Amino acid sequence: MTGFTPAPPAAGCRNAPVLKERGQREVFCGLTGIIWLHRKMQDAFFLVVGSRTCAHLLQSAAGVMIFAEPRFGTAILEEKDLAGLADANAELDREVDRLLARRPDIKQLFLVGSCPSEVIKLDLHRAAERLTERHAPHVRVMNYSGSGIETTFTEGEDACLATMVPTLPATDERQLLMVGALPDVVEDQALSLLAEMGVAPVRCLPAHRAAEAPGVGAHTVVALTQPFLNETAAGLERRGARILPAPFPFGEEGTTAWLWAVAQEFGVSPETFAKVTDAPRARARKAIAAAAETLGGKSIFFFPDSQLEIPLARFLTRECGMTAVEVGAPFINKQIVGPDLDLLAEGPVIAEGQDVDLQLDRCRAARPDLTVCGLGLANPLESEGMTTKWAIELVFTPVHFYEQAGDLAGLFARPLRRRAILAGLEGAA
Ligand code: SF4
Repeated sequence: MTGFTPAPPAAGCRNAPVLKERGQREVFCGLTGIIWLHRKMQDAFFLVVGSRTCAHLLQSAAGVMIFAEPRFGTAILEEKDLAGLADANAELDREVDRLLARRPDIKQLFLVGSCPSEVIKLDLHRAAERLTERHAPHVRVMNYSGSGIETTFTEGEDACLATMVPTLPATDERQLLMVGALPDVVEDQALSLLAEMGVAPVRCLPAHRAAEAPGVGAHTVVALTQPFLNETAAGLERRGARILPAPFPFGEEGTTAWLWAVAQEFGVSPETFAKVTDAPRARARKAIAAAAETLGGKSIFFFPDSQLEIPLARFLTRECGMTAVEVGAPFINKQIVGPDLDLLAEGPVIAEGQDVDLQLDRCRAARPDLTVCGLGLANPLESEGMTTKWAIELVFTPVHFYEQAGDLAGLFARPLRRRAILAGLEGAA
């Protein structure tokens, strides 16, 4: 049965040469992952051990959320901390004691490393062990790095989930583990499709609460929902789990291929699969078609940001009729995005890493109809007459699975429509 497997192009991009660049980068650090992780994990607190710069970044990225007593904060390293590490450790312990005394709802505390804490070699791993002992059994303290030296944007989520993997209980149960922090509404949709097909049990990482942490073992099959979970996937493999290769669930085709990979693994019949997915597939196709009217025939250029670039380029070229000029990603793990590369027709430059000036030169020379880039490049490129899509929205907006497929295409169509409307107004003036 191949009816649910997308037909690959004559030549895909898996073996395409990858342009590897190193130089000036225009990307977020991994601390930004805290913004969506703290909403997902309801009894977790993220304590960044960093400078005022880190606190400032979180405040700007979180926007109005900072007024809602969020479960994140920054222990700011002062100059006296930089002078002596012993003081910094004692002070960190005091801060954590104070925080946990005030917030008994916290069950998992993440000490998040930053550039300053790494540069002064503050050992947060040891601190996490020390503090776990001190606050057991109520709170487990873990640590990971979200620094700009170590991580780019979504890699912060990867680092966070990867640090949890060794702490998960062992299980021999045959189960599906869905990995990646999805918005609740999207996670519920995926779980309900899987339940209708009879795939069970299905667990999620991250779980909403520490007490619901999934087990992992030799009979765990992992379906990744995000392409940037490289370390987490490697950690799960070390615990005996198997990663299911599949394209990522973006668009109708990507979602069907992802679900079908799971369905085959769990022995779901094609008839059952069709019964469960026919209606949402039709809805997704219809919703995408509305946006594809604007996107069809347009060219797109991706600056590296989140590692979502390859699966999204696959979706936009195959389902929305776009042409990809360049697909830049901060990091490319072919084991994980290989199935998406197979489906992306040969043609675009596949670039890993960044030398932003060189990439800007290529972008200006290509004059793509749409450029996907970070907030730092978007307005300057708009002022040069280019149309841009802010990459950050792709991470903050629900975009996975069937019901969001139309919204996902719409995110790309909107800036093109806006430009057309404004051009009309200018013409009329
Ligand atoms: S972790 Fe590094 S890159 Fe991120 S805000 Fe702090 S200093 Fe800046």
